[in-house]
Amino acid sequence: MSNLTPIVLVLEDEREIRGFVVNALQAEGWQVFEADTVRQGLVEAGTRRPDLIIADLGLPDGDGIDFIRGVRTWSGVPIIVLSARTQEAAKVQALDAGADDYITKPFGTAELLARTRANLRRLRAGRTLPDALFRFGDVEVDQAARVVRKAGQEVHLTPIEYRLLGVLIGQAGRVLTHPFLLRECWGPSHSQSTHYLRVYMGNLRHKLEDDPAQPRHILTEIGVGYRLVVD
Ligand code: CA
Repeated sequence: MSNLTPIVLVLEDEREIRGFVVNALQAEGWQVFEADTVRQGLVEAGTRRPDLIIADLGLPDGDGIDFIRGVRTWSGVPIIVLSARTQEAAKVQALDAGADDYITKPFGTAELLARTRANLRRLRAGRTLPDALFRFGDVEVDQAARVVRKAGQEVHLTPIEYRLLGVLIGQAGRVLTHPFLLRECWGPSHSQSTHYLRVYMGNLRHKLEDDPAQPRHILTEIGVGYRLVVD
């Protein structure tokens, strides 16, 4: 975090939506910079060094996905994508290109600010967490010792469950797509087998959630993938 006031870059060509987002963030006391093309977005991202980027996908001089790829060559700054409901495939593409999260248009101030806060918090947490120990709810994962405990009791995970949990932890807070998770856990040949994921996510929920039917941490993002929520 560059200072006490987070800097946010808003890349959106629709003036009305951009104004709405900018006003909402400024009302929270954040410093906001604006851009309305891929080219201007890349320049602003490079010069302002924002703590967070909110980016539209359909831009007049190109694709928001190109913007994300461009930023990801030099920065891990959290990126939230703004997408229309008709852009399901583009949303998954954006997440695979390195976006952290998405908001579906139309959206309200409450959702925008909640997502923004969550991603800024994740950024801060990522910089202060010790490497080895990771906690969510009453679950504690000792990554050095490869031991998982829930409410102090050791939980046995199979190697695949542990690998899946490790991927979720490594990218906590982010929406992880089905293809990404499958590639990370089973390798490229299984990138279509989303039923594997359902089965193993179900196992993880049974072992780690208080109520596996109403998970609080291992969340489903319908049609897209999964997300580990820490708080
Ligand atoms: Ca647009």
